[in-house]
Amino acid sequence: MKDISIFGSTGSIGSNAVKLILNQKDDFNVVALTGGKNITKLAEQAILLKPKYVVIADHKLLPDLIDLLKDYEFIISGGKEALLQAASIPVAVALQAIVGFAGVECSIVSAKCSKILALANKESLVCAGSLLKQICIDNNTTLIPVDSEHSAIFQCLSGENINTVDRIILTGSGGPFLNTNLSDLLDVTPEQAANHPNWNMGKRISIDSASMFNKAMELIETYELFDISAGKIEVLVHPESIIHSMVGFIDGAIIAQLGPADMAGAIGFAINYPNREKLAIERLDFVKLKRLNFIEIDHNKFPAINLAIDAIELGGLAGTAFNAAKEQTLDLFIEGKIKFLDMFKFVEIALVEYKNNKTDHYSNIEQVICQDQHTRNVVYKAFESLTHD
Ligand code: NDP
Repeated sequence: MKDISIFGSTGSIGSNAVKLILNQKDDFNVVALTGGKNITKLAEQAILLKPKYVVIADHKLLPDLIDLLKDYEFIISGGKEALLQAASIPVAVALQAIVGFAGVECSIVSAKCSKILALANKESLVCAGSLLKQICIDNNTTLIPVDSEHSAIFQCLSGENINTVDRIILTGSGGPFLNTNLSDLLDVTPEQAANHPNWNMGKRISIDSASMFNKAMELIETYELFDISAGKIEVLVHPESIIHSMVGFIDGAIIAQLGPADMAGAIGFAINYPNREKLAIERLDFVKLKRLNFIEIDHNKFPAINLAIDAIELGGLAGTAFNAAKEQTLDLFIEGKIKFLDMFKFVEIALVEYKNNKTDHYSNIEQVICQDQHTRNVVYKAFESLTHD
């Protein structure tokens, strides 16, 4: 039996992981479950999986969570420090599935205290990739990506020499606005943007998929995770989301990983690593599929990819600045304060500001947090000055 902790268990990835673990009850002993605000779901999961620790990140909700679980003997706590404490309990597998920058520090702690860090929180690699990787090396922790594209690339690279890689082809569905004209994107709503055609995901990543900021984040994630130059990473629109990504080698061979659009595959692969276990996932029927389509990305409509390349070229903490600006503008869009296309403008403003105040080297999480807060202020000031003009 492997000890496992799930951070962000109440979310889309976390709930998927809970389902998988319920089907593999003999393989896992759940140590900690954590949620952000959803105490009802967290309590339900705790009753099903019987972890030792149950943590709610929003400490104001702790009394209500304790009340919901008053008949059980879990160790229940709340707040950010409690979350980090839970991450510091040694486990065989830590699944980091908190959304956004809030998950980065927790991933850093998990990297020190788990044998396998199953990483869904892509922000950890985008904001603090070199730090996280170094901590994994220092602590002998194996980092297994949960993002479906990176899980695919990881599987394609199994047993291969990274120096023989010619190109990595990162596929993306194109999201709900693949066939929407640029002019029609002006007035799209957060609800329309969150309506992903293939994947059932959390609201924030779904909107990021619509703007291609998700693919842009994944480009930086690929660069950080596989130590490959940005010039060798290609983004290809593949509307069916069957090929999860591909790796091309110097001899012209291409290895692709395929599967249904179901995150259970990548989560199951990561938490069971290095074994493969039987998963209750639909099997592909190629005769029914008939054909797969590929489309070149429209950079005019989706400038996020080129902004991510700028961030990679800037180096240092540019990934943190990129993510902070992206998260801040996403909040403004969800709150109805800016339009869909404005998000690109604010991220560009943040990267220009970062270029003028660059941090070339960083070595601790405090610097990452500082950059995150700084860029959020930059974006907010830019937003205020634009709305007052
Ligand atoms: P969700 O929004 O569905 O879930 C996020 C989880 O994080 C919830 O458990 C939420 O708690 C918790 N959370 C939110 N804010 C905080 C906070 N401040 N402190 C602690 N916990 C918090 O997100 P997803 O599951 O969609 O995504 C999780 C991560 O995985 C993201 O980084 C995403 O990019 C990545 N990912 C997701 C995929 C998907 O299919 N969903 C695919 C690939 C990557 P609560 O709900 O209780 O408030």
